[in-house]
Amino acid sequence: MIKEFKKSIGYICPCCSAITIRDINLFDFSESSVTEFPCSDKLCGHNPVLLSAKKDKYAISVHCPICEEKHLYNVRKITFWHNDFFVLHCPESGFGVLFIGDEAKIKSEIVEQEKLINELEEDFTVGEELSIIFEAVEHINALAKNDNIYCSCGSRNIAIEIDNDKITLFCRDCNTKREIKTDKESLTALLKLSTIVL
Ligand SMILES: [Zn+2]
Ligand SMILES: [Zn+2]
Ligand SMILES: [Zn+2]
Repeated sequence: MIKEFKKSIGYICPCCSAITIRDINLFDFSESSVTEFPCSDKLCGHNPVLLSAKKDKYAISVHCPICEEKHLYNVRKITFWHNDFFVLHCPESGFGVLFIGDEAKIKSEIVEQEKLINELEEDFTVGEELSIIFEAVEHINALAKNDNIYCSCGSRNIAIEIDNDKITLFCRDCNTKREIKTDKESLTALLKLSTIVL
């Protein structure tokens, strides 16, 4: 039995990240027209979700806030109205992109998911920083092996120290130092060097 012909629908705008949760009922969707679900931020004006009613299905297009593609779903009307809560997922990332059911449940699911996404993004940033440092160290080692790092005092007795935000090369004989920041620009510049003189 379909208990209710009223539900909430929740989605996240791929343009401005605003979360929209609005009420829908069975009579909102007519077979002759496409229903647009606009972003709750009126200044944004984007329509992340489009729904058209077919005979026994809804064709739903969701502009994905995760991978930014448009995903198309065919959902049976009975599934749409009969389930207490269900989620359409991005086929690329597995994250939910359209939440249908009770408003409070939609809110908590979206909040949970955003927490998870933030954590993943932090991991990604840490990974990216580390790979920059690995690449830089590898290049410095290759230069050192071929005697292409030396001090202006003539010494090739060079030590390397790595901190969180910089790599320091210093001459063991005269203590001259050269610092290389571990950001993208500095690394790109470093990789172009065929010799390093302190
Ligand atoms: Zn928006
Ligand atoms: Zn996606
Ligand atoms: Zn020196």
